Amino acid sequence: MLIARTIEALDAARAALGPLALVPTMGALHAGHVSLITAARAQGLPVAVSIFVNPLQFGPNEDFARYPRDEEADLAVLRAAGCALAWLPETSVMYPPGDATMIEVVGPALRWEGAARPGHFRGVATVVAKLFGQTRPERAYFGEKDWQQVQVVRRMVHDLALPVIISTVPTLREPDGLAMSSRNRYLAPEERRRAAWLPAILRDLRVELQSMMGADPSNDSADDNADNNADDSADNNATKLALAAAHTRLEAHGFKPDYLALVDAVSLEPIARPRAGSRLLVAARLGTVRLLDTMSVDHPPAAPAAP
Ligand code: AMP
Repeated sequence: MLIARTIEALDAARAALGPLALVPTMGALHAGHVSLITAARAQGLPVAVSIFVNPLQFGPNEDFARYPRDEEADLAVLRAAGCALAWLPETSVMYPPGDATMIEVVGPALRWEGAARPGHFRGVATVVAKLFGQTRPERAYFGEKDWQQVQVVRRMVHDLALPVIISTVPTLREPDGLAMSSRNRYLAPEERRRAAWLPAILRDLRVELQSMMGADPSNDSADDNADNNADDSADNNATKLALAAAHTRLEAHGFKPDYLALVDAVSLEPIARPRAGSRLLVAARLGTVRLLDTMSVDHPPAAPAAP
């Protein structure tokens, strides 16, 4: 595995390896990150993994200083996962003296994480654009766990016509359902046990919302018919009640939810009733640890035809 810490070393590695796939990370690597590397390797390109704890995406009262860093352990994970190149830029390489350019995405960046963490997506978009410029990957891989981040990156790539294909990988979970995350290690043992309620409550909510959906996606579009309007407002109310009940359940298990929302999976705008392409997003604090999760809410598969 090649290791590059400077732009010159990175350029030499790119020349040696040819076209690349990129997996951007902040290190503290776990099996979720490895699943991105595995998905990238399956496409046949050599895989570059960047490790950079990006100060620009942390707010002043966030955990930048205590974010876990263990380069030696991370390099061992990368070697075992078959990574071809580790890109480990210093902050002064990512933000050189006189650095004066930032990328501001609005649209899908405005709500949820964007509202809870002002400036977060400016930091993400800026560093991802820089990583793309530095490594010039053919493809880049992101986890669905950070669903809003993926939509922000896709929006930026589309708007700036960046020549990279964005691929996503499903969330890898612990056996009890908790989404793997570098921050899980900060949960005290009792919090760690309780953390499994987050995906459990989200899954129950998903089942409840799916039960409100017809099996036929063609019924999803709004209709002017008065009866349907009455149905819509009943759905709207049922959605609100289901979200509120899940919010209360989270609080009962000791979480402090920042948000729990049913959204359009691409625009991230809240929606009043579940439909094809809708998605649940949640961020909730357990003690000092902030946990994110997301699940799609889509039509259940059609029942098999009667014999
Ligand atoms: P991070 O190091 O937390 O910035 O994450 C780097 C990449 O790994 C992002 O694209 C994340 O969405 C992805 N990722 C983090 N946790 C998981 C997980 N449990 N399953 C799949 N992808 C993940």
